[in-house]
Amino acid sequence: MGNQNFKYPEIQNFLNGAFENGALETMEVRSPLNGNLLSSVPLSNRKVLDEAVEFAEKAFPGWRDTPIKERSQIFYKYRSLLQENLEELTALVREENGKTYGEAKAEIEKSMELTEFACSIPQLIGDEILEVSRGVECRVERRPLGVVASIVPFNFPSMVPHWTIPNALMLGNTMIVKPSEKVPLSLVRVAELLKESGLPDGVFNIVNGDREIVEAICDHPAIKAVSFVGSTNVAKLVYKRATSNLKRALALGGAKNHLVVLPDAQIDMTANNVIASVTGCAGQRCMAAAAMLAVGETDPVIEKICEAARKLVPGENLGAVISKEAKERIERYITESEEQGAKILVDGRNAKVEGAEGGYYVGATVIDYVTPDMAIAKEEVFGPVLSIIRTKDVSEAMAIENANPYGNAAAVFTQSGGAARQVIEKASAGMVGVNIGVPVPREPFSFGGWNDSKFGALDITGKSSIEFWTQLKKVTTKWNAEAGINWMS
Ligand code: NAD
Repeated sequence: MGNQNFKYPEIQNFLNGAFENGALETMEVRSPLNGNLLSSVPLSNRKVLDEAVEFAEKAFPGWRDTPIKERSQIFYKYRSLLQENLEELTALVREENGKTYGEAKAEIEKSMELTEFACSIPQLIGDEILEVSRGVECRVERRPLGVVASIVPFNFPSMVPHWTIPNALMLGNTMIVKPSEKVPLSLVRVAELLKESGLPDGVFNIVNGDREIVEAICDHPAIKAVSFVGSTNVAKLVYKRATSNLKRALALGGAKNHLVVLPDAQIDMTANNVIASVTGCAGQRCMAAAAMLAVGETDPVIEKICEAARKLVPGENLGAVISKEAKERIERYITESEEQGAKILVDGRNAKVEGAEGGYYVGATVIDYVTPDMAIAKEEVFGPVLSIIRTKDVSEAMAIENANPYGNAAAVFTQSGGAARQVIEKASAGMVGVNIGVPVPREPFSFGGWNDSKFGALDITGKSSIEFWTQLKKVTTKWNAEAGINWMS
């Protein structure tokens, strides 16, 4: 069918190893860098999901029964293909999401690291075995769940899907992925490269769409587990709906991450870390710092932060935000805070990029004297905006951090081990950094927040994810016929 105005072919669903659509409604996909039309994405209906699940169910027994070491060979190959296609994959992420070249490349490199972890799973899950009574052996086997699903957001078109895809598949599950309709292009290449690596048809399927497909995933009786990453409101809906349909679920939501800066913090290092955390990926990271809790006299750090913010040029070393609506929302938060008495030290509103007038840009913004009751202090802004809240001591700072409903990350900048320990202990967040602005735990450590940033018992990556994607089979064996019969064997 092909539309000549599209830079890339129309996106299709990936079912049983083939791209196909049928007659589905579609939506435009545009690049945030310049507003250019990239492609269109199908808005699939429940029938497509049913079909995908049927393929995944059919593929399951063969994949489950493939020895894990054989499965891992496919992911070693896949990891090499990510490396070979690094530049092309980087360009796709950049174009569909609006990141800078360096940020997009780092995202693909992180996707490789996640795949490396999956390759190491056979070394991590040696089964437990013990002689529990004379001649009686008990062993635990880790088994896949069956057909599972992963629903992903726009802000990491490659990395977040790689939080789930390699681990879930390595562990023997078959899978349906629902991409963000805003950034569906990278996953097309993921499907192609998985196939090229030797993944059997039907093991990995992509169903594009929006709310209807997410709800259908939560409702489908053959889907055993649902993983979700996105905003808190949707995370709550997905978690409730999937679990009420008796599925295993893990739903990661939004964030409002606090950085506590103490007067003894190293000035340059702190300023550089804070600004990188706030503005990296244009502030569209669930680990981005959003609020700085300035404890006591921290003006020298704030001055340096402003200096660093002024050096960021939208369209050069600062990427775009995802849409016109996102730009307007972010600018609205800034304006409201100003109206309520906050002081804008660096103003990123009305950013224009020559030659990319159709793009969606917000410049780095630093706002001082934000108070905890302002919307900008409480809500997720998801843009390159730092709110500075002045506090008198660490206890006051931690009370503000604790009062926020989210709980993804928190960090402290100080040279004092005691003060750092106080923040580590008091922070109501799943990931805490000391002198680190983006405290993402790298593999094999697991990723996951607390409170309204995550619903469900486990984390989404690392060793924790092995628990999520498997179930235990406990086998008790007795071969000595002469042994007596005992209810405890
Ligand atoms: P989103 O919640 O709008 O969308 C996420 C997914 O849900 C998409 O696939 C979308 O199609 C679907 N969806 C949207 N509205 C829905 C509805 N009403 N019912 C059912 N499904 C729906 O999130 P987004 O804007 O794509 O991503 C940004 C958000 O994701 C931010 O809040 C960010 O903090 C969060 N995020 C969190 C983490 C984490 O680890 N906690 C990581 C990345 C992103």
